[in-house]
Amino acid sequence: TQAPVNVTVTGAAGQIGYALLFRIASGQLLGQDTPVKLRLLEIPQAVKAAEGTALELEDGAFPLLAGTDIFDDPKQAFEGTNVALLVGARPRTKGMERGDLLEANGGIFKPQGEAINAGAADDVKVLVVGNPANTNALIAQQHAPDVPAERFTAMTRLDHNRALAQLSKKLGVSVSDIRKLAIWGNHSATQYPNVFHAEVGGRNAAEAVGDEKWLADEFIPTVAKRGAAIIEARGASSAASAASAAIDHVYTWVNGTPEGDWTSAAVVSDGSYGVPEGLISSFPVTAKDGKYEIVQGLEINEFSRTRIDASVQELADERDAVRKLGLI
Ligand code: NDP
Repeated sequence: TQAPVNVTVTGAAGQIGYALLFRIASGQLLGQDTPVKLRLLEIPQAVKAAEGTALELEDGAFPLLAGTDIFDDPKQAFEGTNVALLVGARPRTKGMERGDLLEANGGIFKPQGEAINAGAADDVKVLVVGNPANTNALIAQQHAPDVPAERFTAMTRLDHNRALAQLSKKLGVSVSDIRKLAIWGNHSATQYPNVFHAEVGGRNAAEAVGDEKWLADEFIPTVAKRGAAIIEARGASSAASAASAAIDHVYTWVNGTPEGDWTSAAVVSDGSYGVPEGLISSFPVTAKDGKYEIVQGLEINEFSRTRIDASVQELADERDAVRKLGLI
């Protein structure tokens, strides 16, 4: 049988980690033929809680789980890692300015980028979930000069899944009947879920909806503000759906997108669609042979253009802010 794949998860004792680790251990991240070895990273005060989760993982008796190791040092946690899920981040607390948030996260993602650069496996794939995810991914990527930039990605798959769900409800179809939906830009309130290229049973989705006002006033804000709606309803953040989307992101990256469809991921821009080169921005992407690629040659209408530009401008501002702080 195959040697285990090393999967590093940061923030492993957190809410998302709790939902994510069991899905990984059961084989849903990489497939039912692939044993995994978990490497959990936590800050020292959360190591004990991570050890508790490791006891539960043991009690899952997962045939594909080849072991769980826990670290509080990124250098060790990323040693030999093949898949790195960067979930732990510094949340925005009351009264915190954006600059403070970026600076606190720079203190986390810079050493993690360096550790990935120093010790990760040659085929390492990195997914950043911890917010602000796109810019955290940029910081880590900039400190890993020996790793191909395309291996650093940030998660917009949850936004993608939320958009699929909303559109399927509106049109009374199954999510599996919808193709070619995509999230563009930043994983933030400015993100742009684009249905103009989407197809529903062979028909254009925007035409099937037939109501631009619904797109502008209902669909886009519902998708973009879904996280807040869940906190309001549950009294806790959307950890399980975030974990589920992280599983989807890596599974697709490794196993590919179906013919005639694409998905959404924040990847390093090559300048496509006027998104400045080097920004980690969400695009429609296909995956093949373990690589995400930006879908090329799509026509961008006026409605989409202004929204993509606004979200990309926010990413450029975040990049300028972390540059000013000396984080990249
Ligand atoms: P969660 O596990 O709920 O969330 C972790 C991160 O994911 C946050 O940055 C959160 O952003 C982000 N996130 C992205 N998408 C979503 C989504 N849809 N819903 C909710 N969150 C989303 O946080 P916890 O506080 O429970 O756990 C964080 C853990 O990380 C703690 O155990 C802490 O000790 C650890 N940590 C580890 C570090 C390390 O390993 N070096 C560094 C820092 C923290 P948002 O804040 O915007 O909700």
